Amino acid sequence: MTAKIINGKVISDFFRSEYKLRVDRLISQGTRPGLAVVIVGDDAASQVYVRNKAKACESIGMYSEVHPLPATTRQAALTAFVEQLNANPNIHGILVQLPLPKGLDDRAVIEAISAKKDVDGFHCANMGALVIDESPYPPCTPYGVMKMLEYEGIPIEGRHAVIIGRSNIVGKPQAMLLLKAGATVTICHSKTQDLPAFCRSADILVAAVGRPNFVKGSWIKPGAVVIDVGINRLPDGKLCGDVDYAEALLAASAITPVPGGVGPMTITMLLGNTLKAAERAAGIAGTTDPGETGLA
Ligand code: NDP
Repeated sequence: MTAKIINGKVISDFFRSEYKLRVDRLISQGTRPGLAVVIVGDDAASQVYVRNKAKACESIGMYSEVHPLPATTRQAALTAFVEQLNANPNIHGILVQLPLPKGLDDRAVIEAISAKKDVDGFHCANMGALVIDESPYPPCTPYGVMKMLEYEGIPIEGRHAVIIGRSNIVGKPQAMLLLKAGATVTICHSKTQDLPAFCRSADILVAAVGRPNFVKGSWIKPGAVVIDVGINRLPDGKLCGDVDYAEALLAASAITPVPGGVGPMTITMLLGNTLKAAERAAGIAGTTDPGETGLA
């Protein structure tokens, strides 16, 4: 068996063209969705991510502004800055690029963002809503994974989904979203005993570990769907995922590549969440789903 390659770029373009129609409509009604991105310090990789987010906004007609702050920024100054953005009516989504430099408290900054503008979905109120029922802004990476599965028509209900990783930004919210979709969910992490055995029982395997080629082909149940969230830079500068792609291709029924899989979907869901926040601010019931096509 050779797995179907799930093309995150194609799926992303599909969503973005739908979002663009909604952005145009909102602009014609007097609201241009706006995203503010705050980056503290001079981490090169973070600066590339931030630029890509701003470019993506502009590509569908949204407004974006990037605020680079020095690494010496104090917690109180950062909080005050975020509060100014909370009060700015032209800004509907606020994203603080994480991790913050040492000495700054990521969680405190996330909590300073208005829950209504928390388009990353990391605020306690939105995380809590995700656990209890449904967050208006599901965290972008796991939400992008759900949208890929839906787009590909991959059944989730009744399937066993195994997630490797329990971070607040990927593993935990991914588990909540899969659970809500009717999967039986197992979360694995660094203390899990016999990880390969858990993986072999997965109909849907999501790897979010941060270790290159960590998941071996022999860990994959024949016909499983493999979602590789990992982004790892190899010594030669190339990117690779957490899954041994060449091996997994022979075992899985479908797989996301790295790059070109989950990565583009993360940014696209950020656009969707920002658009939704702007629609809500304008009194329109926003959704992250493309409305015109009926794709749920
Ligand atoms: P974290 O480092 O926060 O979490 C990694 C998780 O992997 C932890 O829960 C850790 O367990 C677990 N883990 C580490 N080693 C092992 C092991 N040997 N066996 C089993 N589990 C292990 O990473 P993130 O969740 O932030 O990111 C994961 C990956 O996804 C990274 O490569 C990151 O770059 C990528 N990423 C990609 C995005 C995209 O858009 N495609 C967006 C966000 C992240 P424990 O909790 O016990 O330490």
